Amino acid sequence: MTSKTVTEILAANADYAASFGAKADLPMPPARHFAILTCMDARLDPARYAGLAEGDAHVIRNAGGRATDDAIRSLVISHKLLGTTEWFVIHHTDCGMETFTDQRMAELLEDNLNTASLDPASMTWSNPHHGGGCADGHFIKWLSIRNQEDSVVQDVRHIRAHPLVPANIAIHGYIFDVRTGKLNEVAAATAAGRPA
Ligand code: ZN
Repeated sequence: MTSKTVTEILAANADYAASFGAKADLPMPPARHFAILTCMDARLDPARYAGLAEGDAHVIRNAGGRATDDAIRSLVISHKLLGTTEWFVIHHTDCGMETFTDQRMAELLEDNLNTASLDPASMTWSNPHHGGGCADGHFIKWLSIRNQEDSVVQDVRHIRAHPLVPANIAIHGYIFDVRTGKLNEVAAATAAGRPA
């Protein structure tokens, strides 16, 4: 059975492919030589907020836009094989990663695996159903966020200090404001990511 989502996606794709045109000839390396590491939050559209067209830049996304080993893997490939020389770490206001601690996430999963609900008044998560959970969440680092500016600085520093990241890459830190659409620089992060 085909879901409504699959039908919608394929209809949208048919329109997109119909006017694909010259994009067929885009080269693999990003034309504008930069990469963005940002959150998967559905309200963030890096192509729109940073003005990207197909072929312009690499966009690496995960929960929080955190500098995980896998994000760094992508960034290193982005530079080493595809020539980017400037990287942007972009977190955002009202990030879901601020709504829980690693401990709480593990507890919720240990109780039950289905979608939890967030109480908007107390900003705390609880499970509508109980049972059938799994303790494995206690063994994962969820990289939840306590303070947006701190997390951007931490991630830029972590990337900067990585032995596979050359010193001449410029790393910038920003916070996207979901209420205004603006990118606000985190000066301490950009300072930490300054190229040598
Ligand atoms: Zn987020």
